Amino acid sequence: MRVFVAGGAGYIGSVCVEELLNHDYETIVYDNLSEGHRSAVDPRATFIEGDLSDPDRLMESLEKYECEVIIHFAAHALVGESMENPGKYFRNNVSNGLNLLDAAVECGIRKVVFSSTCATFGIPERVPMNETLLQNPVNPYGESKKMFEKILEWYHQIHRLNFTAFRYFNAAGAGDQFGEHHRVETHLIPNVLKVALKHSDHCKIFGTDYDTHDGTCIRDYIHVRDLAQAHILGMDSDHSGFYNLGNGEGYSVRQVIDTCRRVTGCGIEVLEEPRRSGDPSRLVADSSKAKRELGWAPQFPDLESIVRSAWDWHSRFPNGYSD
Ligand code: UDP
Repeated sequence: MRVFVAGGAGYIGSVCVEELLNHDYETIVYDNLSEGHRSAVDPRATFIEGDLSDPDRLMESLEKYECEVIIHFAAHALVGESMENPGKYFRNNVSNGLNLLDAAVECGIRKVVFSSTCATFGIPERVPMNETLLQNPVNPYGESKKMFEKILEWYHQIHRLNFTAFRYFNAAGAGDQFGEHHRVETHLIPNVLKVALKHSDHCKIFGTDYDTHDGTCIRDYIHVRDLAQAHILGMDSDHSGFYNLGNGEGYSVRQVIDTCRRVTGCGIEVLEEPRRSGDPSRLVADSSKAKRELGWAPQFPDLESIVRSAWDWHSRFPNGYSD
């Protein structure tokens, strides 16, 4: 089966491509390299440099390789940036994404697997969070993903386009060859590991006055390889639906930093800063639906193995990708 991976040169996309190839799926990566890296594309994949805003190139690529399934990772994904530049998020994540769905309908694609996010929920009514919770995003990033979720439902109803949408909690860790390298890094684990790599003197804690056991935000960290597994299961399933993906276990920012200290053996210096805008205090997934309906079984659920995997990759590639 041929799989078309939009955004396959980014962090989660590159690890998913590696897993698809390990499972013998033929894989076509379509990426504009705005966030992704050419060297993050597994050499076993076919690479097309292209943009979602280019419907002709999308159609031509899907037809040329006779793809059956699309996995769609190609989106902007920073909460803070979306609060400053909402147009960038709605234009790419919604408007450009429509070109991909229209091409999928035109080419008779069997299934679209979509990267959504727990940010579609906003401040959750309760944790752990299952799929029945109210979705009330508090930033343009979450709103753009929620809009695309609705569009998927309408395309399913009207065009019979099947979809599986995964709402990721906090992706972390690495694959065998590919890992997390953002040109501007805002995520907690890579920023803490930068201190262990001696690329920075200290890491920052954004907010120490949250209503949690140690005052810092709680998140549910999920291994990127477990996310990749879910995509393969979602792609093969005949059903359409939404699934929350996390481990059901929340860790505070301080607990993450302590785990990084333990794994790296480095005393990591910390600076306490004010809250970052738009951060809910606690986000923890209830992923029982994905386990029950898709047979998803995370292989690396504990924080220590997730951090160890990230550290292993960052130690092997301390400067990330060269491009
Ligand atoms: N965070 C932090 N210092 C950092 C980066 C993040 O204290 O250098 C906090 C952030 O405020 C949030 C948690 O760590 O509470 C996870 O943030 P991240 O950006 O990794 O993921 P998000 O939950 O925003 O998707």
